Amino acid sequence: PHKTLEVKNLKKHFSLGKGKTLKAVDGVSFDIYKGETFGLVGESGCGKSTTGRTIMNLYNKTDGEVIYEGQSVHHLSEKEQFLLKRRMQMIFQDPYASLNPRSTVAEIISEPMEIHNLFSSNKERMARVYELLEEVGLNRDHANRYPHEFSGGQRQRIGIARALALDPDIIIADEPISALDVSVQAQVVNLLERLQDEKGLTYLFIAHDLSMVQHISDRIGVMYLGHMVELTSSEQLYDKPLHPYTKALLSAIPIPDPDIEDQREQVIIEGEIPSPIDPPSGCVFRTRCPMAMDVCAKKAPVWQEVEKEHYVACHLYNDEIVDPEEAKNQQH
Ligand code: SF4
Repeated sequence: PHKTLEVKNLKKHFSLGKGKTLKAVDGVSFDIYKGETFGLVGESGCGKSTTGRTIMNLYNKTDGEVIYEGQSVHHLSEKEQFLLKRRMQMIFQDPYASLNPRSTVAEIISEPMEIHNLFSSNKERMARVYELLEEVGLNRDHANRYPHEFSGGQRQRIGIARALALDPDIIIADEPISALDVSVQAQVVNLLERLQDEKGLTYLFIAHDLSMVQHISDRIGVMYLGHMVELTSSEQLYDKPLHPYTKALLSAIPIPDPDIEDQREQVIIEGEIPSPIDPPSGCVFRTRCPMAMDVCAKKAPVWQEVEKEHYVACHLYNDEIVDPEEAKNQQH
């Protein structure tokens, strides 16, 4: 598969003054293949949104690299940056907050096209606005209305239409369905899938809940406290999760059919996510990990491919200790 986006050891630290640093993203690496949906999952504060924003260059990176189609996005001239914006667009969690309440839907969707001077006449631009509204399941009668006149799901459709206005390749969707009613979530996911099929879009789909990305994602990366802890295909992650944190996230998802016996190991994680200002030594998950061993406090686990296309950062899967049960026994 063709790598459209390569994220290499990306770091984004925020200086808080008094010598304190918030390591929101602390060395994250992954590739996104053209035409796929890559799900990025983790609890709030794990750095997934910051990762998305740093990829978009909304934040300056602290270290590492983001490469889009062979070009390093943080080392572009202003003009190249401007052109890159057409290729990468973002959808936000709260469409209401991201839509100007005093602009009509037509103005909201037109704005990026005006900035990028896509059409010479108003008529052409409006024709494109109508086309975009129809593509997202709205209609031209909606063009002269204001965001507050729409439901949450419709507002997210407006946000999607605006993101599509420049005909991008990649859409970074930051929790696009989290704020919506469950019944509406599926509709928006269906819309995103249809648009992907029609336009060959690539998605980075950010969510705090594995159940939200399960069906839409081809591959999933799980983040915890600024680090990627596991990455593999959607099926592999659900069938054979390796990292204790992923296992805990999965065991929290109820099995919808009570006749199916739950084969998943129940892992309960206790306690709060530690502060990224003062992360634990060694493995960042160790303060909540039911499998933690002595080595976990001393050494950060290495990110490694333990099976084909299945990456994990956990001492349980280091070459010296292969069997988690054995590791657990060793602990006692
Ligand atoms: Fe748990 Fe240790 Fe693995 Fe971290 S490295 S997830 S603490 S077993």
